[in-house]
Amino acid sequence: MTQTSGDKEKDSNYRRKRINRLKKIIIGTIVGWMAISLVAISVLIYHNVSLNSSIESLNKKLITSSKETAKLYDNLNSKIEDESAEISIEDESDISLSYASLSGNEPDEITAKQVYLTFDDGPSDNTGAILDVLKEYGVKATFFVVGKTDDYSLGMYKRIVDEGHTIGLHSYTHRYNQIYDSVDSFNSDIEKLSKLIQSTTGVKPNFMRFPGGSSNQVSNVNMKELATYMTEQGYIYFDWNVVSGDASSKAYTAEYLRDNVLNGIDNYQTSVVLFHDASSKDSTVEALRMVLEQLKDENVEILPIDMNTKVIQHVHAESANNN
Ligand code: ZN
Repeated sequence: MTQTSGDKEKDSNYRRKRINRLKKIIIGTIVGWMAISLVAISVLIYHNVSLNSSIESLNKKLITSSKETAKLYDNLNSKIEDESAEISIEDESDISLSYASLSGNEPDEITAKQVYLTFDDGPSDNTGAILDVLKEYGVKATFFVVGKTDDYSLGMYKRIVDEGHTIGLHSYTHRYNQIYDSVDSFNSDIEKLSKLIQSTTGVKPNFMRFPGGSSNQVSNVNMKELATYMTEQGYIYFDWNVVSGDASSKAYTAEYLRDNVLNGIDNYQTSVVLFHDASSKDSTVEALRMVLEQLKDENVEILPIDMNTKVIQHVHAESANNN
């Protein structure tokens, strides 16, 4: 059998086609693998990058949290140092100064306001009623008393102490021309009252209030000098920064006194409120009830004066540490 030239041509065409097909398959396979490899590589690169970045952010977090821990630790340490510095009061004469700086003036949203209700000039016919209202609201206050020796008054001194209030000295006679005649006359008047209170209640008062306040304009004695002397005797004297207004001889309503007190308390982180415990001042008792009714739902601590109380003074005693 011989092939014709036509057959030969057919044959070589067929081979060429097969070769071309094979080439296409090979090239296609190579291109396909390359594409798959490229995709795989990019997927791997992407994963690597994201892993790296999460490692980085974890590292950052670790660094900041360790920085924060260090900061917290530092804060804690400095607070502990501050507090121990404040606690180390060297002698008694430093106490008023140190407590004054301890309590701080800046109003604090979180810290409750501190309110010290003080009653001057008792005992009076109203003392029992005032004590009853305080008891009803579970509140302790401070009474700056004068000297009286009748049974009712002696009983009131005792009730003040027994019911947990602070008893302070306001002078025995409250006669301005007598007590403010000299340092000696003031001191002997105060000592007479102190002895009366001690023998009646068993408590030696640490706190006092000058009649008319340390800023009074009636004293013959220089008040800075007298304040210095009484401080040296170991007394801590308190003035006030909130007045109820019941000192005035004008007629006033309980609402008027209440508004004075509540408006005053708004202005201070620590308020020392001046009331009077006197027979004629019935609206003081009513105002006290209104004030306590209002304050019971507020972020306010009502406290008796003690050694921790921020000292409120109009005129300061002279001392190495004070001015
Ligand atoms: Zn008085």
